[in-house]
Amino acid sequence: MTHTPAQPRLRFPSVDRLASHAQSLDLIDRFGRTALVDAIRAELTSRRLLAQSADASLEPPPSDETVILSAVAARLDEAFQPSLRAVLNLTGTVLHTNLGRAPLPQEALDAIVATAAGASNLEFDLERGVRGDRDDHVEALLCKATGAQAATVVNNNAAALLLVLNALAFRREVPVSRGELIEIGGSFRLPEIMARAGCRLIEVGTTNRTHLHDFTEAMGSKTALVMKVHASNFKVQGFTASVPEAALAQACHERDIPFVSDLGAGSLIDLTRFGLPAEPTPAQAIAQGADLVTFSGDKLLGGPQVGIIVGKADLIAKIKRNPLKRALRIDKMSMAALEAVLRLYLNPDKLAERLPVLRLLTRPAQEIRAMAERVRPQMALCLEACADVHCIDCLSEIGSGSQPTEQLPSAGLVIVPRAARGRGGLLLRLQAALRALPVPVIGRIEKDGLVLDFRCLEDEHQLLAQFDQLRNFS
Ligand SMILES: *Cc1c(COP(=O)(O)O)cnc(C)c1O
Repeated sequence: MTHTPAQPRLRFPSVDRLASHAQSLDLIDRFGRTALVDAIRAELTSRRLLAQSADASLEPPPSDETVILSAVAARLDEAFQPSLRAVLNLTGTVLHTNLGRAPLPQEALDAIVATAAGASNLEFDLERGVRGDRDDHVEALLCKATGAQAATVVNNNAAALLLVLNALAFRREVPVSRGELIEIGGSFRLPEIMARAGCRLIEVGTTNRTHLHDFTEAMGSKTALVMKVHASNFKVQGFTASVPEAALAQACHERDIPFVSDLGAGSLIDLTRFGLPAEPTPAQAIAQGADLVTFSGDKLLGGPQVGIIVGKADLIAKIKRNPLKRALRIDKMSMAALEAVLRLYLNPDKLAERLPVLRLLTRPAQEIRAMAERVRPQMALCLEACADVHCIDCLSEIGSGSQPTEQLPSAGLVIVPRAARGRGGLLLRLQAALRALPVPVIGRIEKDGLVLDFRCLEDEHQLLAQFDQLRNFS
């Protein structure tokens, strides 16, 4: 059946008429005429479809121009929303790889703003007026923090490993303990990285036990380096043995073979002074005889995504001459942020206050609990139609593979749907509603509830201000 034009509810204003409406001027200014016309067309199409399918007894969809243009404005706002956005990480995992790992300190943001908008001395020696080296901005700071002779920086720790292996072990052998042939996540597996770097992996020992003689038997004229990989994201317990780093380093040095330690998280300072689990530092690895140490900038160091290589000057020089270094180098924004973060380490007494990662990891559970108790009543009110909201004690994790078996006492809220039937579906819809907020809120489903761990929530108002939008959730 076709509708006759006599039915007034199917008549909508024309695209031209809407686009030249006074209300459209601001939209043209903000989004451009092309985007406006596209959005008007899309809005009219959806309104026409709705009108045609609408039950005759229902209200006709409004065809008022200002109403349509308001809907068009909402469409444009949505379409122009950036893809990469801030979210509230209430997962309880502080260094969440999918949520961008370390939050940066203000000092790092200021440094990015101060240098990224215009020209900078990224690779220019201001004293001598000649070409400089971008690593110069951080090398001295890294050497001071680790006791190394030299340092260089690349895109991330995976890149650091690839570069070290390619520069020092191309077409040669690298013995690694079978207990350390790790997968970090995604497609990052040590044996595959080795193959791509062009070196031959020599597996030594067994999954649970590797001895010094396993290594020494594997060392020969084809050995390029020996690598120790910090078992960052898992723990082997029970009947285990691994070779102490100092002993392995000594065995390497007796044979003139470089000893490389991949630390992963590598906090620059001993975290036990903040009551956190001990994590090997690059300084300790160097002191125990590592000739090179690789670690991430955005794990416990609390900085931007970079991979840091520190160690012997001759080895670093060789690495820097490798053509892959150019392909893997970091950009000016990461460099600005890294330098600022490293400067914070010059004053360790203030570090827990200034470095967000440390501030979040050291937040006392009772402070987090008090915040959850303040937030709970309003959250409960918004969800009163469908769920109960309780304060809970929970456990946070450091994340990014650091100390996977150590958990930090924390607190937060759990949202529990009241109806037992359809609870799973409601939880998923609630999770989606939280993700759809202007600043998406990311929690985790645990048993029958949606858990929001407040460890990483520093500004409760940012959460509360959005709650009203959940008021009609059911
Ligand atoms: C995380 C990690 C890597 C990879 O570092 P990215 O910075 O994620 O590239 C490599 N090795 C170890 C031991 C790690 O923990």
